[in-house]
Amino acid sequence: MRWEGGRKSENVEDRRNMKPAVMAAGGLGVMVVMVIAALLGLDPKKVQQVMGPGGGQAGRGGQVAQRELTKEEKEDGEFVKAVMAFTEDVWTEQFSRAGEKYVKPTMVLFSQAVDTGCGRAPSAVGPFYCPADRKVYLDPSFFEELRVKMGGSDARFSQAYVIAHEIGHHVQNLLGYSEIVDRKRQTESKAEFNKWSVRLELQADYLAGVWAHYGQEKFTFIEPGDVATAMKSAQAIGDDRIQKNARGFTSPESYTHGTSEQRTKWFREGLKTGDLNRLKDLFELPYGEL
Ligand SMILES: [Zn+2]
Repeated sequence: MRWEGGRKSENVEDRRNMKPAVMAAGGLGVMVVMVIAALLGLDPKKVQQVMGPGGGQAGRGGQVAQRELTKEEKEDGEFVKAVMAFTEDVWTEQFSRAGEKYVKPTMVLFSQAVDTGCGRAPSAVGPFYCPADRKVYLDPSFFEELRVKMGGSDARFSQAYVIAHEIGHHVQNLLGYSEIVDRKRQTESKAEFNKWSVRLELQADYLAGVWAHYGQEKFTFIEPGDVATAMKSAQAIGDDRIQKNARGFTSPESYTHGTSEQRTKWFREGLKTGDLNRLKDLFELPYGEL
């Protein structure tokens, strides 16, 4: 993937050099200290100065920088900013064509664990989008996992696909699709709700494909072999594969992301057509035809 040299997004918040333990202290820890300080009659402002800058605000620059990022980590950061800029440019244009405004989301880079508008999350949950604060959370060590899964080959486009999928969830949030599925959580059985969840995930893959379609038109960032590698990685992270690896068998009624084959199919459809009118197909087609 050709990603260097272009615009870099300003909507990337880098929290990787913040120690998670400090984050915890920044939340409850500081509050407890403040209460004790108040009880003892100490000046809370002074206590805060001792605790470090902005020690009272959990997870928002309230953490003390612990270390310098490595060269690889810095490059991952630059890469994420480049891909975010590609998504911003493509989606701003597509939204304005439809007479709408694209509200840019924020990407938060973290390591180990992070406090979000959707609660605290460990890296193990993988990259995710939180609709409540409109932020994507990503621990770039996931990139390394992806690289290893792909046999150490250039996995940049596969990584971009993962980011584009999460940004796809943001687009769904703006367009109201997330809300439709959210409401189903209250009204449908677990099995029925999972089907809606699969539809939403496949639609995010389709949106990632649509992004790649217009991104390629505008920036020609896709290089030979990129799509095949990204599809291999989609196969590595499809529900059937994840479940098989985790417990040796699969149960389709508990799929929430779709099979590897479905994920590949819808990404490719989006990439080929760039047709946003087909977004509703993902919600209207009979489930068996997805
Ligand atoms: Zn997803």
